[in-house]
Amino acid sequence: MSPTVSEPSGPDALTASADEAVTPMFDTLVVVGPGLIGSSVLRRAQQKGTLARQLIAVDVSPEARARVEELGIADRVMADVAEAAALADCVMLCVPVGAMGSVAAQVLPVMRPGSILTEVGSTKVSVIEAISPFLRPDVTYVPTHPMAGTEYSGPDAGFATLFEDRWCLLTPLDATPPEALATIRTFWERCGARLREMTPAHHDRVCAIVSHLPHLLAFTICGTADDLADETRSEVLDFAASGFRDFTRIASSDPVMWRDVFLSNREALLEMLARFMEDAQAMARAIRWGDEDYIVDRIQRGRAIRKSLIENRQA
Ligand code: NAP
Repeated sequence: MSPTVSEPSGPDALTASADEAVTPMFDTLVVVGPGLIGSSVLRRAQQKGTLARQLIAVDVSPEARARVEELGIADRVMADVAEAAALADCVMLCVPVGAMGSVAAQVLPVMRPGSILTEVGSTKVSVIEAISPFLRPDVTYVPTHPMAGTEYSGPDAGFATLFEDRWCLLTPLDATPPEALATIRTFWERCGARLREMTPAHHDRVCAIVSHLPHLLAFTICGTADDLADETRSEVLDFAASGFRDFTRIASSDPVMWRDVFLSNREALLEMLARFMEDAQAMARAIRWGDEDYIVDRIQRGRAIRKSLIENRQA
């Protein structure tokens, strides 16, 4: 099924409406999991003042809570997710995708009627499946995926401009009311993001090729280098050319987050990996038989994609 495309509003949306300058969208926003993504949302909300009147961060670890307090990026920092969710008109789950279901199970029963539950998981079909059993008719659920990130994690890793000019994908359910979808759309526009709407299944296939497969390749190539004999390994570290260095940056990403992403997008990722392996075999064959045209064609296609990314301000 093809995605529903809507025009991105871009970062200028921050100054688009006079109302926005004075009216926070929510009274109380609860961010569960103030790591890279959650703390970036908090920083943005705090900086702009147009997202929520009160910001509450919830984290299971005392160290992370202490750090969020030190950073001063939330009005309140709480340990009990249910206690916090009961205060909110919007709860945003920013935990690893494998934890979404169990956190939703704690949050949904106590949420106020009319409030919104949203999350930022990197995979959508399995997260929606995990959350759905706990949904209530009087609480709206809007799944999202801000396509912004770095290889760092935790509350120190976030920054207010993380979402600026990045895509945020919305994957509403059939039952998602248009008003709630519009509210979350405006929320991300105020974070500086460009918005696009698509089905959860389409989202997972797109992300398998643009994000999950590149991470799989990066983890694998670093593992291969690490498996080499000791003397070769030290040469890898000494002489790493930019190609390998770029892989190591991606490969330094959080293990829990990526374990969960791979396992929860299993089908789409395995499909893209199979296609990749066929293409890699074709390249191997071209190299073996000296098929210069094939090799040059592939390299030129790579250059064209890079050029389009730069033109699209996504490089
Ligand atoms: P992160 O920096 O590691 O933060 C994860 C947060 O979730 C931390 O506050 C962590 O608490 C908390 N958490 C971990 N396990 C939990 C559990 N079982 N129950 C409750 N809280 C738990 O990760 P992130 O990069 O912000 O990713 C958060 C979400 O955003 C994930 O769903 C990810 O797929 C999605 N996402 C990530 C990126 C990216 O590039 N990083 C981009 C878009 C979307 P502690 O600090 O106490 O461990």
